[in-house]
Amino acid sequence: GRKFFVGGNWKCNGTNEEVKKIVSTLNEAEVPSEDVVEVVVSPPFVFLSLVKSLLRSDFHVSAQNCWVRKGGAFTGEVSAEMLVNLSIPWVIIGHSERRLLLKESNEFVGDKVAYALSQGLKVIACVGETLEQRESGATVDIVSAQTKAIADKVSNWDNIVLAYEPVWAIGTGKVATPAQAQEVHSELRKWLHENVGAQVAATTRIIYGGSVNGANCKELAAQPDVDGFLVGGASLKPEFIDIIKSAT
Ligand code: 13P
Repeated sequence: GRKFFVGGNWKCNGTNEEVKKIVSTLNEAEVPSEDVVEVVVSPPFVFLSLVKSLLRSDFHVSAQNCWVRKGGAFTGEVSAEMLVNLSIPWVIIGHSERRLLLKESNEFVGDKVAYALSQGLKVIACVGETLEQRESGATVDIVSAQTKAIADKVSNWDNIVLAYEPVWAIGTGKVATPAQAQEVHSELRKWLHENVGAQVAATTRIIYGGSVNGANCKELAAQPDVDGFLVGGASLKPEFIDIIKSAT
């Protein structure tokens, strides 16, 4: 089976003091064991070392982005090699906020995923449609094209978690219904089956993100193709622990 995965994307939030408080809340939480649920939190770069040093060892740390190729003269960027050097195992790539606000293209995201994997990182790769795209009936085409751009550059999917995050659900309080999430997750799995392979389709975790909270997580988690969550706002709050518990 696919191990349940719960990621907390802290985005561009937190002070040193707030970060320590969030970590101590997580450290005290009673949650299912690491065999049952994989928990990964993703603070801003500047807090990665602090979080890594304080966080319980059964939870893991992720960056929110990294540079597309080997580091060098790229002011303001952080390379995959640096994350590996700090023993940060995970990175989020292709979040819609970067695709839309920083104009990251499908191809650029595919290159980033491939490079991060080549350096030994595990990747939470994000896809998702805008409201306009959903309303025009293009959802499956959009997320398939985003997934294809990754598949074009990657041959081994073992270290990829695919996050379906509809843009209209992110930070809006408008969570996808369990049926809406299940439908797209199942289409993504079908796409992987037809275009990458049966084994990859069966084993790749497809997680949902967008206004997940302690109250709506249980019903979403019960969907057969929902293998976990990528949580934004609620990952900064104690209710993140309830979301972790939705694994069981
Ligand atoms: P919210 O949970 O705040 O809607 O954010 C979801 C998200 O973008 C996680 O990456």
